[in-house]
Amino acid sequence: MLDRRLLLPASRAAPVPLRSSRSCRRTTCSASGSLSRPGRDPCPMIIMFAKEKSAKKFNLEKFEPMVEVTPRLSAKLPVHAGRDKNNLWDHKTFARGFLKFITSNAPDDVKSTPAPVVAVEEPDDANQNVREQGDSITLLEERNKSYSDSRRKVIFGGTPTIDGFSRIAQAYESSDQRRYLVPCPDCGEEHELAWDNVTWSENAEAPHEVFGLATPASARYACPFCGSLWDDTARFRAVRRGRWVATAAFHGVAGFRLNELVSPFPGSRLAELVKKRLVAEKALRAGDDTKMRSFVNNPADATDKAKVTVKRRRLTFEEFQAIYEKAPQVALWLQNAMLLALVSGQDRSTIARWERSFQQDGHAVLTRGKTGVRIAIPLELRMDVLGMSLADVIARCRSTGIVSKYLVHHIRPNVNAPKGAAIKIKTFTSKFKEARDLAGITGDDAPTFHEMRSLTKRLYMEQGGVDTKALLGHMTDAIADLYANSRGLEPLKVKISKR
Ligand SMILES: [Zn+2]
Repeated sequence: MLDRRLLLPASRAAPVPLRSSRSCRRTTCSASGSLSRPGRDPCPMIIMFAKEKSAKKFNLEKFEPMVEVTPRLSAKLPVHAGRDKNNLWDHKTFARGFLKFITSNAPDDVKSTPAPVVAVEEPDDANQNVREQGDSITLLEERNKSYSDSRRKVIFGGTPTIDGFSRIAQAYESSDQRRYLVPCPDCGEEHELAWDNVTWSENAEAPHEVFGLATPASARYACPFCGSLWDDTARFRAVRRGRWVATAAFHGVAGFRLNELVSPFPGSRLAELVKKRLVAEKALRAGDDTKMRSFVNNPADATDKAKVTVKRRRLTFEEFQAIYEKAPQVALWLQNAMLLALVSGQDRSTIARWERSFQQDGHAVLTRGKTGVRIAIPLELRMDVLGMSLADVIARCRSTGIVSKYLVHHIRPNVNAPKGAAIKIKTFTSKFKEARDLAGITGDDAPTFHEMRSLTKRLYMEQGGVDTKALLGHMTDAIADLYANSRGLEPLKVKISKR
């Protein structure tokens, strides 16, 4: 299994997202965070899986074999003794604790037992709505909150699904974003191993059907600093000497990410990785991108470089008002767009494609641009500080005197767009910026149109009674996405409390 040193930098902070590539034996990753505990610091522990099948598989293929070869654990966990009520496949009792495997689609499981240590395997696959009782991960976390911060620990382990909407990726992004840096045995420079540095020669005597002239056995890892070539043995040795380095400030959440290139498993030898890559490339040429997709999610994951982001100042309500005042000088539709964005909290693409017809039973039913998730927002949703409800804003958008399918539309025609045409996403940003400049709010970090979403959230949180999480789709997009894919029919309801 994966060298556990990589995975246990002894942080007791909660939660601990472990972002890993697909074949890095992620199950072992997040589970191992708790697995040393029966030996070290026994306590009740729960691991949640998406499905019973994955839990059983984990138990049989990973957990029991691992306990068997670890004397300290096998002394305490009689995994191969006769089955009795203290030793079931999904419930193992030991002195001063137990380990329970549960599944995210069983409400009783998720809500029943509190434990100071809970681990979630593949949070992106976890059930988002346990029989209408809410998100399984949130429910599980609730069960953990009665323990003191020094005892409790929430561990997320998994492979990101869709970039930008993955729960594990989001968890990682809100963490201190630790990278695993590996020192070069030749020059001593450290870096995070990346697929781009894998190299191989092409000198096979006869072209192979799949591999062409490439010789996967010749694959080496090239140090990006000095060019020295590492074979698997050198790579494993270098990996053992690596260290974790945080790349963001620590606010109570430690996050670790790994890709397959740090894995010592036989299936992750360089020759095997190159073969997989070439098979994927061939499939891609034949029009099948599925293999490459999993590949991109996998070793190449290492190449997604740290993004340099300009930290934008937050938009204040006073600034919103100042920009709003200048908006008509820039574009007649801009005030409508700003009001709709602020009251509804939706992003540009959703605002841009918001049609007049999107109303039923007192709700605006929208399809989110990015994810295709449908949500239903009550028209009576009201932003007190603005003195307007969603119904008010929609009425205002509809009363421009222009015939248009879209709520926000061009009121005066220009060379690129006739009257009534939808507004392009980029145009929201550029016109907002013009109005903002007119209002005297300038600088590299000046807030953009997109920043209205965060203002919406803050205003509703201050106001209270609005389910901002569902409204803004922040932590729930991946989840809502899966929800939409699996159920298809019901839109996600945004709840507001009656006053
Ligand atoms: Zn080097």
